[in-house]
Amino acid sequence: MAIAEGNTNACKKMITVSKENYLKAIAEAEAEGQTVIPATLSHWLSVTRPAVTFALKRLTKDGLVSVKKDGHIQLTTQGRQIAERTIVRHHLIERMLSEIFGMAWYEIHEEAERLEHAVSSAFEKKLVEKLGQKDVCPHGNGLALRSPAERRKRGLVLLTEAEVGAKYKVASVYERDRKLLEFFEKEGIRPGAHLIIEAQNYDGTISISVDKHQIRLGNTAAERIWLSKS
Ligand SMILES: [Zn+2]
Ligand SMILES: [Zn+2]
Repeated sequence: MAIAEGNTNACKKMITVSKENYLKAIAEAEAEGQTVIPATLSHWLSVTRPAVTFALKRLTKDGLVSVKKDGHIQLTTQGRQIAERTIVRHHLIERMLSEIFGMAWYEIHEEAERLEHAVSSAFEKKLVEKLGQKDVCPHGNGLALRSPAERRKRGLVLLTEAEVGAKYKVASVYERDRKLLEFFEKEGIRPGAHLIIEAQNYDGTISISVDKHQIRLGNTAAERIWLSKS
């Protein structure tokens, strides 16, 4: 189903929900430091390769992405504008659900994925008036998508790279995996939580203590957490 975009967009065409999702996924995967190829999108959006091929054809025709000969996908200026608008709305919906309705931080991402497409410019303005400006969502992720290199420049480190014995604060977590977020919540790992790196274990896990309890984290979970020195 096609949903009309707000009039703030440079693009006045009808943009379908899935188109916005593609554009946002490209912008986010880029920010995670990935080279975006069709396989990246198929993985990020849990869609088949033929579906990606079909979508890319339409997005290219509409001037929203360009695909290089080697398969590398890039957003055009217009495509990036739509991706950024959708990300702003995603953040606002997450904040609305958390700050106004008191939903748990690990529950709001999927809800925002669905609702972000229905936000008009007028509603977006109301949300900003009500919630105020803030650079990060309840998962600690910035409105301006930052690459791993940019995050490091700002003094953030991945939990996998953290110093043994040092104290840190959870700055942000990867939010596209609900099961992972529920696991983090259960272990007390949430944005703003304080933790100490106890040991880098021989089996590749990392022992940390959070709220006076110790846990061992495997790489898959540890590399989803950005820390700042506390
Ligand atoms: Zn989210
Ligand atoms: Zn978020």
